[in-house]
Amino acid sequence: MIKTFLSYYKPHRRLFIMDLLCALMLSVVDLVFPILSRTFIDDYIPNKNFSMMVTFSWILLGLVVIRTLCEYFMAYWGHVMGSRMEYDMRNDLFFHLQKLSHSFFDENKTGQLMSRLMGDLNEISELAHHGPEDLFISILMTAGSFFILFSINVPLTLILLGLMIILIVYTIWMRKFMMVTFRTVRRETASVNARIESALSGIRLCKAFANEAFERERFKTDNYAHMDSRKSAFKTIGYFSAGSGFFSDIMSVVIMLIGGFFVIKSEITPGELVAYILYTTYFMRPIRRLVQFMQQFQQGVAGFERFIEIMDIEPTIVDGIEAEDVKALKGSIVFNDVTFRYEPHLEPVLKNFDLTLESGKTVALVGPSGVGKSTIAQLIPRFYEVESGAVEIDGKPLQAYTLQSLRKQIGMVQQDVLIFHGTLLENILYGRPDATQDEVMQASQHAHIHSFIMGLEKGYDTFVGEKGVKLSGGQKQRIAIARVFLKNPPLLILDEATSALDNETEAAIQTAIEELTVNRTTLIIAHRLSTIQKADEIIVLGEEGIMERGNHDKLYQQNGLYAKLYNSQFKGYIPDEVTNQTEG
Ligand code: ADP
Repeated sequence: MIKTFLSYYKPHRRLFIMDLLCALMLSVVDLVFPILSRTFIDDYIPNKNFSMMVTFSWILLGLVVIRTLCEYFMAYWGHVMGSRMEYDMRNDLFFHLQKLSHSFFDENKTGQLMSRLMGDLNEISELAHHGPEDLFISILMTAGSFFILFSINVPLTLILLGLMIILIVYTIWMRKFMMVTFRTVRRETASVNARIESALSGIRLCKAFANEAFERERFKTDNYAHMDSRKSAFKTIGYFSAGSGFFSDIMSVVIMLIGGFFVIKSEITPGELVAYILYTTYFMRPIRRLVQFMQQFQQGVAGFERFIEIMDIEPTIVDGIEAEDVKALKGSIVFNDVTFRYEPHLEPVLKNFDLTLESGKTVALVGPSGVGKSTIAQLIPRFYEVESGAVEIDGKPLQAYTLQSLRKQIGMVQQDVLIFHGTLLENILYGRPDATQDEVMQASQHAHIHSFIMGLEKGYDTFVGEKGVKLSGGQKQRIAIARVFLKNPPLLILDEATSALDNETEAAIQTAIEELTVNRTTLIIAHRLSTIQKADEIIVLGEEGIMERGNHDKLYQQNGLYAKLYNSQFKGYIPDEVTNQTEG
């Protein structure tokens, strides 16, 4: 893990070395300042050496300027280095997440992943640049000052050392409390965040049930716990900063008293006493830095561990060595004795399932919800791996093709169409980013959305999504269809929208879909049976697999499950057994 961490310093090693050099300069200036003050008091003032006093002040000023420049460099370029490392890690994490399979995203919530991509990496970057700086400066300062102090007077330094140890013990003792309270604050922050997330995403539900007052109470409880936890954290911080200030003041008083006594006895000079007192006040800085470092270290390491945890997850679905790029598929799909389950501990969704889709034909899947229609669709682009048996396209198992080239041959129109923030043009171009504007327009015409777009003030440059035009469910569907027209794949999977559309939209979508299916092998998951009457084959799925199959006329005449489903949708007649099966 350390090696991986260090590898992120590599591209920025020059900046890093410069940063440490600045830290070194800063410590040296801080260390020589009191010694120079000693000469000033003990030599130049008693000897009334005015010219040296002026020269000396120039030297001190020079040191102050150097120190300021170093501080600036560390604060600016140190942070820049940290954020560059953070940038690299975030890219790596994002690229890695892209490779992970559907099952990973089934288990990990977007919110959690976002906090990893942002919060965790931020903590790591803070540690990455402050850590070495703080450690370096505090060790150098403490060791350097004691070295100088011992060279002035041993007994007085020993007394100082004793006082220092008390201060350090106090600091470590306090730090423990601080860690506990900070952890509580973090936990409470997370729980407020979770509450906000669920309350905001569920705000429509909340309004629908007029449950605002109830939600407010729940929110207030969590928000109060958060505030309360911070209050106790502030209390500890108060104890800590007041307490350590008190100890360092006591140190100064003790050193002044005992040091004064030493001056009277001529063991040390007044200038040396001043140097002692200056060093005493200086000690607080390295100690504070050290404490800060320890805290940052714990947070940064925890963040980095979480980072590595994800980076170590191997994508479950990858290209095998024998996988080949496929240019153009003819499009026959065969499910050959397929057994599939989402998780090893779950029941299989498909058991010894067989299905053949001939090239260029349209097959519709119907049946109650939960029987595995979407699952079948998800297996074709190899979003999940089958447990046994094989899904084959053009006579070869999916593993024979590289994932990217396989997925380029498949068009999907899903129930929830994702429209992202951007223009309509950009949204349709997602189907094939290198398409020309003319091609986009053609695709939109085929998808029966062109005239709607042209009717908008800004046409294809209209913004959609947040702050832009809101699209209806039917319009979104047609955007998705336009994307697939643009992509023009030989295989097509349509997961039909469940939500009801008005008749006109439904007719427009129906025609668009019919045009889309021409010359493509199509699998439609149909919720509205009106859309599939023209399908070459309709497959009725039940809990036990395929219950009925055939075209509309054949199945309707059979007067089985399909006929019942069909009648229930078209004649307002809903037999009990069908309602039970189609619920959910
Ligand atoms: P349908 O499309 O026919 O409504 P699905 O294929 O969506 O059915 O689901 C089939 C079964 O698999 C259901 O029991 C469902 O709960 C389960 N399932 C679907 N997706 C997942 C998933 N990502 N992880 C675990 N189980 C799932």
